[in-house]
Amino acid sequence: MPWNRGVGLGEHWWGPDQNGNWLGAVGLAAFAVVSLVTSVHTDELSLRLVVVTVLWVAGAAAGWMLLRGRPAWTLLMWPLLLSACVLVLNRNAPVAAALVVGIQTIGFLYIGLTQRPLRFLVLMPVAWGVAWLAYGLPPAAAAIRLAVATVVWVISAEFPARLLRRLAENQRVLAQIAHTDVLTGLANRTQMHAAIAELDDRSRAGADPSAIVLIDLDHFKGYNDTAGHLAGDSVLAAFGRCLAEGVRPDDSAYRFGGEEFLLLLPHTDVDTALELVGSLRSTWRRQGSGITFSAGVATSLQEADGHLLAAKRAGRDVVVTSRGTHSR
Ligand code: GH3
Ligand code: MG
Ligand code: MG
Repeated sequence: MPWNRGVGLGEHWWGPDQNGNWLGAVGLAAFAVVSLVTSVHTDELSLRLVVVTVLWVAGAAAGWMLLRGRPAWTLLMWPLLLSACVLVLNRNAPVAAALVVGIQTIGFLYIGLTQRPLRFLVLMPVAWGVAWLAYGLPPAAAAIRLAVATVVWVISAEFPARLLRRLAENQRVLAQIAHTDVLTGLANRTQMHAAIAELDDRSRAGADPSAIVLIDLDHFKGYNDTAGHLAGDSVLAAFGRCLAEGVRPDDSAYRFGGEEFLLLLPHTDVDTALELVGSLRSTWRRQGSGITFSAGVATSLQEADGHLLAAKRAGRDVVVTSRGTHSR
């Protein structure tokens, strides 16, 4: 899926498989247990708090089931529940609540990583209210603590997410560069072998056969030697465009290397592949560079390579298949 600035990382990384949902549920349940342990430390443990903790853990499991497969924005529920958990703790064990209220920062971090930018604002009023009650401080002291907490929350929600978004964008651009031939704009051979293996697997599994076309420009060294390498580069770029525009939507064209190109034609028999190469030849001729090409068409790369060699031996400007040599 292409990276989209308007979409939270949640939809990019944690969308359909809902890792974010799992993380939210486990986080909430773990916090409920930590709160209980803290209440032991602050001498506030009560049967009621034990029951409430069990309910939170059960609620986390139920929430996890409920949110599975839902859109990423529904994950907002987890940080809101985390704040609610602090609020309930504050009613049952206020000293413990004052100790653990800082957990809301994790809620902001979670929103930053799973939601669109600025969506943390939904949590902000809830977090303010919960923190104000849990601090249990005189208004002036509470206001100062809240101001500091707000700065920390904004940074937690926005900065790691922005950094990761930028890294994801860089990764996408790098992947695109790694898979593209700079001169022709066609795919390079990075993914070619994987694509060939996939077609082989599909045809072994009974799908229609696929055709592989290996193409080599004729006497290209001579062209470079007389017209110069820059002119040669322009011819290669023009040939790349001719292939990209001439193949069908499901086909793929690769620069195999140098002045050699490869076409992968899924669900295509040799006759149809020959027709396609014929029309590419006509289009290419009309461009008037005077450079011809030879091609081998087969159902495997090795065979296509053999046929290409045979095309060269046959005098070039022809296509060879297992049935013979075709000059048009
Ligand atoms: P044949 O008909 O037998 O294929 O002859 P050929 O001259 O095309 O084949 P050969 O393998 O002898 O030469 C290939 C030439 O392709 C040599 C090389 O300079 C040229 N070439 C390969 N990559 C590039 C490139 O990126 N730019 C330019 N301008 N030339 C390239
Ligand atoms: Mg060659
Ligand atoms: Mg050549």
